[in-house]
Amino acid sequence: MKEDKHILLDLLGHDTQNSNRQGFASTNQALNSVAEILSYAGVKVEFQDYTVDSGNGQQVARKNLVAKLEENAELPTVGLQGHIDTVPFGDYGGNPLGEKEGGRIYGRGAVDMKASLASMIYVMMRAPGMANLAVNPRLIITSDEEAHSFAGIKRFLEDNPPIDFAICGEPTGMQVVDRGKGAISAVIDVFGKSGHGSRPYQGENAIVKALPLLNDLAALSSGIRYVTNPDFESSDSYSHRSSMNIGRIQAGETVNVIPAQLRIELEMRCVQPSDKYLALLEETMAPHRDLVGAYNVVFAHDPMRVQLDKDSPLCGKVLMLSNESGVFNGFSEAVLLNDTGIPTIVYGVCDSRMCHSSQEYVDIADLKAYTQKLTDFIS
Ligand SMILES: [Zn+2]
Repeated sequence: MKEDKHILLDLLGHDTQNSNRQGFASTNQALNSVAEILSYAGVKVEFQDYTVDSGNGQQVARKNLVAKLEENAELPTVGLQGHIDTVPFGDYGGNPLGEKEGGRIYGRGAVDMKASLASMIYVMMRAPGMANLAVNPRLIITSDEEAHSFAGIKRFLEDNPPIDFAICGEPTGMQVVDRGKGAISAVIDVFGKSGHGSRPYQGENAIVKALPLLNDLAALSSGIRYVTNPDFESSDSYSHRSSMNIGRIQAGETVNVIPAQLRIELEMRCVQPSDKYLALLEETMAPHRDLVGAYNVVFAHDPMRVQLDKDSPLCGKVLMLSNESGVFNGFSEAVLLNDTGIPTIVYGVCDSRMCHSSQEYVDIADLKAYTQKLTDFIS
């Protein structure tokens, strides 16, 4: 039987980069290879098909992998959940497709989040041989998290899966995270009128028009940290604060043409209900309303807070994972699981500060410890 570290090297060996503007590489092959090792271990594997927009209008076929054992109706069902796609290789230093050196395994996506997945797969492979399972484990691997459409987890939730609880393996340094910030993503278009650059009086420059609005949005983005929530306090001094980032501005074709459109893409991380932030955005745009041609909220999710019955056996098991709990600053598939009524904690191996950075690695000792914690959780 392959060990967790070998499974991790297998996963890293598949190029599963995913971004809005890149095609998808071998994500489906990676899931096929996971299916093969699980089936060999006697685990039932299903795929769920869906398509995503590749960014240029083309629909690309993707799939989720869902694996389970013969389930016992008396036991709670616990999802072990993760995504197999990674951010682009970008400036990754070293071999992005994985290498073992000393007591560590390196590679793009090792931290976010193939290391946790490798442990989950390994635990699932061993589960059929475990005598006294305390829960029905169900492995859920999606393949579209990093491009922010969350198509994979949405497809999974469409079937109303009968799951009582889930563990999302995003990296948390093996700390239980039971609170997660909400998120808003919005697009604002400012329209002008095109014309030749030498005759500015015949057109309307969308860049110039948008400047006062951009100034006000910048003021909002620096002031929003004062929207706080004491329930989200943790050892991380920023966890109870909101944030906002103007991530992209697009305008103009070429230097001698008056730009007819400017697009602003922004995101917010919320510790209060998302309505509050949408109202702040509206308020900021109100004085500029005549120049805002279109305003679209791509998604808006409230923050999550997992509530578990203190007397439930699952609650006791969560306390065994770690006795401290924290807040996840990033947005994760756990928020969508919680939104649908499946209490989901985030609990993964590796330090989240290495996510998407030029070096990602897991200590093999940590990988083993995480595998053991998951094993204890299901047994
Ligand atoms: Zn992730």
